[in-house]
Amino acid sequence: MEILQENPDSDKSKTGEFPCVTCHTDCCKEYVIFVNAHDVYRLSVGLGLAPENFLEIYGAKDYSLGIKVKEGLIDLALKQKNGGCEFLEETKDVFRCTVNDFKPGVCKSYPFAIKNGKLIQMSNIMCPVDWELAEFEKMMITHLKKDENEWRFYDKLVKEWNTKYSHRKPLSEFLKFMLDKVESSMTS
Ligand code: SF4
Ligand code: SF4
Repeated sequence: MEILQENPDSDKSKTGEFPCVTCHTDCCKEYVIFVNAHDVYRLSVGLGLAPENFLEIYGAKDYSLGIKVKEGLIDLALKQKNGGCEFLEETKDVFRCTVNDFKPGVCKSYPFAIKNGKLIQMSNIMCPVDWELAEFEKMMITHLKKDENEWRFYDKLVKEWNTKYSHRKPLSEFLKFMLDKVESSMTS
């Protein structure tokens, strides 16, 4: 899927305000949110919940990177509720993320990407807003680079797990292994 293209639409109005507050195009309902080790760690600590409470397992999309546990070859994503993310709160006029302070990196990134060192808005996605890129550039580039590093960290730990345990241990053991890795990376 080609996602790194400049947004060619020019008929959308630019906005300097944070548009998600009033947006009714519910991106939090359209996507399954796949998560990495740091995402799970932040949510688990922030919510005071074991990861099993908010994670769903899916068959791995990428067979070379899926997690090999007793349950199968899997990926981790956020649970869903009423056809959307379970952390989405919907009132009459507003959709609100109830875990905003520790929501997954992919949620913070959307709908941006980096291309040739510059912030761009991904084009073939559903966000209806033409974002004022200059306003978000510094913050988002810092975030996107951090997110990329966290996915690299995750890929590495999944490979290590698969090499050591390949389908011999259950998901619960993988989750412990994963959270320990994040914790030790913070103290080293
Ligand atoms: S990212 Fe775009 S689609 Fe999602 S809530 Fe914000 S403005 Fe709406
Ligand atoms: S964690 Fe928050 S921002 Fe991410 S999909 Fe769920 S409700 Fe939306």
